[in-house]
Amino acid sequence: MTERTLIILKPDAVQRQLLGRVVSRFEEKGLKIAAAKFMRICEPLARRHYAVHEGKPFFQAAVKYLSSGPVLVMVLEADNVITMTRKLMGKTFGNEAEPGTIRGDFAGSKGLNLVHGSDSPETAAYEIGLYFKPEEIVSYDLAAQPWL
Ligand code: UDP
Ligand code: MG
Repeated sequence: MTERTLIILKPDAVQRQLLGRVVSRFEEKGLKIAAAKFMRICEPLARRHYAVHEGKPFFQAAVKYLSSGPVLVMVLEADNVITMTRKLMGKTFGNEAEPGTIRGDFAGSKGLNLVHGSDSPETAAYEIGLYFKPEEIVSYDLAAQPWL
């Protein structure tokens, strides 16, 4: 079934000038970009983004990190896009993520992991709503679709 997910190329991806290479991983997999926005996430928005983690020991650090600089926020659309993007991203920490994954190839620490991706259809719907109005999500046919 066609799904949507919210992907964020986090502040370290911008500062390390890896946006193109990370976006390429998603494009190469054949995932359709349905929306994109370059922006700065303020602390209150980061807190809403990580609301499920409120009370956990890393909550404040995760909020600080996400709001520490500009980010690229995207909605990707494809069948099973949530599972696929989580696999492409790799495990949460770069020092544990498998080579071949985005985090495994580009992140090496426990702190900074370059990319966020929704982990379920429910979180995706909540997270997409934090960043995009319905009319900002673009509906179109991907030319490559019949070949994917
Ligand atoms: N995080 C952290 N320490 C932890 C767990 C998470 O710093 O022990 C940060 C990390 O940046 C992670 C984010 O909080 O990406 C959200 O955590 P989650 O468990 O949702 O990981 P993800 O879904 O990003 O893989
Ligand atoms: Mg998560």
